Amino acid sequence: MRRYTLIMKPTILLLERLAALIHQGVRDNAARHGLLPIHIQVLSYLTQANGYSNLPIAIAEYFGITRGTVSQTLAVLERRGLLVKEKDARHGKRVHLKLTPAGEAILEDSWAKRVETALQLMTPDAQTFEKSLRGLLIGLQQLNGQRPFGVCRKCAHFLVELAGARCGLTGEPLIEEQTVRICREWTAPQFEET
Ligand code: SF4
Repeated sequence: MRRYTLIMKPTILLLERLAALIHQGVRDNAARHGLLPIHIQVLSYLTQANGYSNLPIAIAEYFGITRGTVSQTLAVLERRGLLVKEKDARHGKRVHLKLTPAGEAILEDSWAKRVETALQLMTPDAQTFEKSLRGLLIGLQQLNGQRPFGVCRKCAHFLVELAGARCGLTGEPLIEEQTVRICREWTAPQFEET
């Protein structure tokens, strides 16, 4: 009978080490500001999320946490003056979450900056690397039954018309700044751009 080996493939080991290093960076960041890692992660998420995704429900989906945990997390961030809730002009009960300048300042020296520096030093072919990572992420999210949260411009519903960009799912126009953000309604295009 073939013996099962516990030795990880090099790629999996590398991903495991990277995940551990990044998590450590998030923990250090959080500790410096008297916060928990989830607080930093939520602030960081909100800087990336578009107008359909800067909502409490989207945070629960993105991190795979309960609505109760999201409420507690948001309460701390609001109390610390790091984010504000803004009522949606058209949907009465919906609130959009926005970072305050103090919230943005916390991310200034974040772990993400260090990863960005390492990436710049690393590869002349960052696009190929990013594409491979995105493929792996989408595969894992599908296995876990999670929404993919991709970048708007690379969504199957993204339309560019004479009047500008528009979301084919909701029919709403998209301002430039929203098209580079991530969205909970994102759908993979049939043939992805290279
Ligand atoms: S085009 Fe796709 S990603 Fe962009 S807002 Fe619409 S559903 Fe979201």
